[in-house]
Amino acid sequence: MTDTKWVYLFTEVEQAEAHVGNDWGLVRDLLGGKGANLAEMTRIGVPVPPGFTVTTEACNAYLEAGEQFPSGMWEQELEAMKGVELQTGKKFGDPSNPLLVSCRSGAKFSMPGMMDTVLNIGLNDETAASLAKMTDNESFVYDAYRRLVQMFGSVVLNIPDEAFEDMLDEYKEQKGFKLDTDLTTADWKALTEKFKVIIREHKGFDFPEDPNEQLRMATEAVFSSWNGKRAVDYRNAAGISHDLCTAANIVTMVFGNMGSDSGTGVAFTRDPATGENKIYGDYLINAQGEDVVAGIRNTEKIENLEQDLPKAYAEFIDICDKLEDHYKEMQDVEFTVENRKLWMLQTRDGKRTANAAVKIAVDMANEGLITKENAVTRVSPEQVDTLLHPQFDKDAKSQAERDGNLYAKGVNASPGAAVGQVYFDADTAERMAEEGGKDVIMVRPFTKPDDVHGMLAAKGILTSEGGATSHAAVVARQFGVPCIVGAAEIRIDLEKRQMQAGGSVVAEGDWISVDGTSGEVFLGQISTIAPSIEEQTDLLTLLSWADKIAAQPGTRVSPEGWPTAGLQVWANADYPADAVRARSYGAIGIGLCRTEHMFFEQERLPIVQRMILSDSGEERKAALDELLPYQRSDFEGLFEAMDGHPVIIRLIDPPLHEFLPSEEELLEDVITMRVKGESEGLAEKEELLGKVQSMHESNPMMGLRGVRLSIYMPEIVEMQVRAIFEAAANKTLEGITVKPEVMIPLTGTVNELNWIQPRLERIAKQVNAEKNASFDYKFGTMIEIPRACVTASEIAEVAEFFSFGTNDLTQMTFGYSRDDAERNFLIQYVEEGILPENPFQTLDQDGVGRLMALSVNDGRAARPDLEVGICGEHGGDPASIEFCHLIGNNYVSCSPFRVPIARLAAGQAAIKHRGIQIPAN
Ligand code: PEP
Ligand code: MG
Repeated sequence: MTDTKWVYLFTEVEQAEAHVGNDWGLVRDLLGGKGANLAEMTRIGVPVPPGFTVTTEACNAYLEAGEQFPSGMWEQELEAMKGVELQTGKKFGDPSNPLLVSCRSGAKFSMPGMMDTVLNIGLNDETAASLAKMTDNESFVYDAYRRLVQMFGSVVLNIPDEAFEDMLDEYKEQKGFKLDTDLTTADWKALTEKFKVIIREHKGFDFPEDPNEQLRMATEAVFSSWNGKRAVDYRNAAGISHDLCTAANIVTMVFGNMGSDSGTGVAFTRDPATGENKIYGDYLINAQGEDVVAGIRNTEKIENLEQDLPKAYAEFIDICDKLEDHYKEMQDVEFTVENRKLWMLQTRDGKRTANAAVKIAVDMANEGLITKENAVTRVSPEQVDTLLHPQFDKDAKSQAERDGNLYAKGVNASPGAAVGQVYFDADTAERMAEEGGKDVIMVRPFTKPDDVHGMLAAKGILTSEGGATSHAAVVARQFGVPCIVGAAEIRIDLEKRQMQAGGSVVAEGDWISVDGTSGEVFLGQISTIAPSIEEQTDLLTLLSWADKIAAQPGTRVSPEGWPTAGLQVWANADYPADAVRARSYGAIGIGLCRTEHMFFEQERLPIVQRMILSDSGEERKAALDELLPYQRSDFEGLFEAMDGHPVIIRLIDPPLHEFLPSEEELLEDVITMRVKGESEGLAEKEELLGKVQSMHESNPMMGLRGVRLSIYMPEIVEMQVRAIFEAAANKTLEGITVKPEVMIPLTGTVNELNWIQPRLERIAKQVNAEKNASFDYKFGTMIEIPRACVTASEIAEVAEFFSFGTNDLTQMTFGYSRDDAERNFLIQYVEEGILPENPFQTLDQDGVGRLMALSVNDGRAARPDLEVGICGEHGGDPASIEFCHLIGNNYVSCSPFRVPIARLAAGQAAIKHRGIQIPAN
């Protein structure tokens, strides 16, 4: 015998806590979420049917030993059953007063419908007969018995459920029955026997009449279901670790199908779609739990329970308040009323839409239930991302309505707009999305756990059955996929691969538009727009809290000169309009303006090309003089939008050939003209081709670009610096506070800076003298080349700021082309586990990150107040942002659309690492 305690009664939560060192997270690890919460509810006096939990450790040991219970576990399970017998006054397997139990899975994190449950364990011919007498409700007892045999057959013995369902349908047809409720005791008895025959035929042995044997096999089935395909797929998608394992909860059965004084339901303590502080859920009188979740019968709104069962309802509302108060979170509860007595069967933190997550966090902080810091940690950066997802363009939607394209309406289960082609099953949906590259709307009568892969591949989900708590709704909300459920007017014909509503037929492959926010389905494609952040007042409140938390001095314990607050969030913005958006999204600086983007505009490109192709210094100067006013007015726009905030303007970076027509196209034109004998314009084309060919580089990304280009052809950056300082001076004279920072790209050696920077600083001084303006400015560099990282102390002697260009730095550290790697080998690398993530999306902390940390340390050793930021794509990635916090960055800079995500991530990093010494090791 071992000393390990494998089994805990719900009344033994203190022992479980003591076992894991009084850490609630570890209690959840041990007992699973469901078991831990059943025990916790028992402790705080909420009515829970007596029961016990067989631990996740037992499951782990069982799976590791090749599906063998660990020594002592089964004996403890039988012992715990005696405890439950004592609490209920009933006896397991005793016909004179039989105890019936369920055996339910329950991992640390909820995995809706992914693992197994067996109900009514303890019924056999004897106990059923006596229970029928005792309850005076024979039909109910034999229905329960056939459910046990059916569940046991399908869940424990892996017989396809259709074997039982088909038999039931056949039986009903023979007897001319339509509904299950038409069946009498004799019918249920007959079916129970038929179901037993199915088991015998499939398995070669009989349904076990011995309740202990039923319990033992059900416990094994629950444990084994942890490694079932559905569960594994779900964990992969939800990022849940595979080694947590599940617990098995053995719970006394209570019945909601005992007549009109009984019922069962599921509810959320706040609305999971909108976050409104109002109970939200469904129930059914005289029904079992599955009937509600399956959406087979039309459920009642939870508020109506007040009329049906007033006392139970009042108690239920009190319990909901108590649970929210206790867990300080919105709860998702299941309950059953058995002969007017309320029982709580489950509570867990409720899944919710991104919208609701934000509202609930902000409301709870305002209600004083949680702190503002708690609120900031309650919303994930991914949820903020969802909130900024496209919505339908209002005008286009109204037009679609006027055009008669509103096809159907259903329950708005998961918000957001989705436009795609209809596919009617999960496999096809997944294939069309992944192999066909299509935008898919997956349409089903309802969804099951087996459908999750298709749902994840889809842009939107539509079901004709089910309600707000159905599987489709719960899963879609969790993964942020727009979804409509219960669009009842739609008739889906899975054989003909089409659906029909109001006389119009949508065939597989046709386009529809699904508005998960309003619940409307439209024919055809409706254009979408980015949502306006200004309207999302709760999100703005939450982000302002995140900003305040990050801005707190002392958040980071740092060496002299290093930042002690958390990260600031700046934005990458090339045009004044981007800067205005960046400000409205909450950026407090521009970390990167890619000036060359301004060169591509229609009226400017010919001037740029003339400048590049000019034969003489005068010609080039003339072209640059023409460009200067354009650049100056762009910069004026940026300074105006960012009044009082820093604006980093990067000098020209890409190789010049990017501004010229492509060599292949020119060659093709020239050959065609020659073949056709067209002489007009041929000489010019040939000359242009010659010039383009003379500028050809085999590896342009490592060629004449960045600071090298500035040194090779300084006139361009001299013009740019003049434009920057003229703009800054003009705006200063208008009363705007400008903080320009001139950024030199792609430095590899300090000598490059030594060559170019003083020339540019001279121009800055000259312009300010000419304009009689004075303002603070900086000259600094991008850190994009490993050599710059390892010589950072030298570079910081000249550069006043560093900005990590992690796109190029990743390219050059790995030696992977940022333009080609993803379409060639990189995705395979991630799939094979050679790389944990795509390093162009999330920072490679072990390699690129170490170079960055080295640069910050060495750079600040030379210049303690060196300003450090990041402006590569990683600046908007939450994990990379956390890393930037830890190495001592002043700010992160990302695209305006990602600014809200970055603000939340920066606040969360500040909370998570408050007071830690940076640089962290
Ligand atoms: C970078 O390399 O990370 C960067 C921001 O510059 P660009 O993407 O323009 O090369
Ligand atoms: Mg770069």
